[in-house]
Amino acid sequence: MTQLYAEVRAPASVVLPGEEGWDEARLAWNLAVDQRPEAVALPESAEEVAEVVRWAAAEGYRVTAQSTGHNAAALGDLAGTVLVKLERLRGVTVDPETRIARAPAGSIWIEVVEAAAGHGLAALAGSSPDVGVVGYTLGGGLSFLARKHGLMTSHVNAIELVTADGELRRVDAENGAELFWALRGGGGSFGVVTTVEIALLELESVYAGHLWFPVDRAAEVLRAWRDWTEAVPEEVTSIGRILQFPPIPEIPEPMRGNAFAVVQAIYCGDDSAEMDALLEPLRALGPAMDTFRPLSMTELSHLHMDPDHPVPGAGDGGMLDALTDEAIDVFVREVVGKPILSTEIRHYGGAVARSRPEHGAVSAFAAPYIMFAVGIAPTAEAKAAVHATVASLMASLEPWQSGHTYLNFAESRRDPRTLWPELVHARLKRIKAEVDPEDLFRSNHPL
Ligand SMILES: Cc1cc2nc3c(=O)[nH]c(=O)nc-3n(C[C@H](O)[C@H](O)[C@H](O)COP(=O)(O)OP(=O)(O)OC[C@H]3O[C@@H](n4cnc5c(N)ncnc54)[C@H](O)[C@@H]3O)c2cc1C
Repeated sequence: MTQLYAEVRAPASVVLPGEEGWDEARLAWNLAVDQRPEAVALPESAEEVAEVVRWAAAEGYRVTAQSTGHNAAALGDLAGTVLVKLERLRGVTVDPETRIARAPAGSIWIEVVEAAAGHGLAALAGSSPDVGVVGYTLGGGLSFLARKHGLMTSHVNAIELVTADGELRRVDAENGAELFWALRGGGGSFGVVTTVEIALLELESVYAGHLWFPVDRAAEVLRAWRDWTEAVPEEVTSIGRILQFPPIPEIPEPMRGNAFAVVQAIYCGDDSAEMDALLEPLRALGPAMDTFRPLSMTELSHLHMDPDHPVPGAGDGGMLDALTDEAIDVFVREVVGKPILSTEIRHYGGAVARSRPEHGAVSAFAAPYIMFAVGIAPTAEAKAAVHATVASLMASLEPWQSGHTYLNFAESRRDPRTLWPELVHARLKRIKAEVDPEDLFRSNHPL
């Protein structure tokens, strides 16, 4: 096999099965996913990406792009596919005049957050410091500032990518506007993105934290939090969570081996006293721990306690049209005591529910609550147990689930008609047929 490829001269950035470094090259951030592509490319520049795309097309392979591999679980079988890993394309730059960050495709959010913070600016980063800027942005992008500022897809200035003809192109609202629209929510089906340019906000800090309660109060706390979400202003984005920590040394005390119901909230307004007043009814419940304080944007990147390094995980997500008392009872019954680390319900609505004139293919979500459940999956048995728990949770919440799913929180293959509204899906397919008629590029969530 290696000999055959060598005869057709694979680009230097390509690693083939059996070659030195193969097992490391094929790793995804999610270590529970065993990726076995035809070849892995580790380009170091946009030109090398183009070289790999041309080579793969000439050899009759398909191409899939991966910035980190956070959403690798949905990719499926990679036979006949060249996995293009962008992790070597790094070096975020920020222009403080235009308030625009340029993020090469291997960039992770903490790199943008830190570069922006140096100029008193902020990005619409997600909960995890090491999620990839590109995958997050192509799928929608829900940050902790989302109820105030909307989806990431409405804050993109330009995207550079290598298309199926092997050319490097730059698209924005004026040039290649249809493709620019499709990329902002349509996912990885249109090419290999090499850089995104994103608009930053003038924001240096937020007021945020957690209220921790014993897990046996989960139903009471989540109901109170749900009532609270119905009245909070758009400056507040919040999450109701159940966290169940395993008794392992990596988890600090007092979390180790314990379970909690947690309200996490972020206030991005001018007056933190307003947030203290808003928090009163939740604080009146008597949390065991209250961690609210001003946080820099860099500190905010760690608030959700997501891992900042590769881990083996399994999980899935969905959207809820309503969060009734009964739905909360079902949620608690399906989660507490089960092999699942973090099960969260995020409150959106606000600007997330409003389509903006500058939107892309994913423009707004009507469902006010978005759910994600994840467990640790270091072994096949652990993975199966997490999957069974998540499947049961999703099935039990069916009466309240929206017919729509957020692409970035879908870690399993979904019917595309549940990822995009019908007209959006039809437009995405038309654009795909124009820019990639041979279906060279395969996304983790194909059209
Ligand atoms: C711990 C954790 C926390 C998260 N928190 C949030 C959150 O707060 N908000 C939120 O909205 N999402 C969140 N997510 C979901 C996250 O946005 C998705 O998993 C997203 O797909 C990750 O992008 P990535 O580039 O890191 O992953 P990857 O697995 O590398 O990419 C996912 C897909 O995006 C496409 N893609 C990636 N890079 C490229 C490229 N260069 N060119 C073309 N296509 C590309 C491909 O189709 C790829 O399969 C979280 C996920 C995890 C695991």
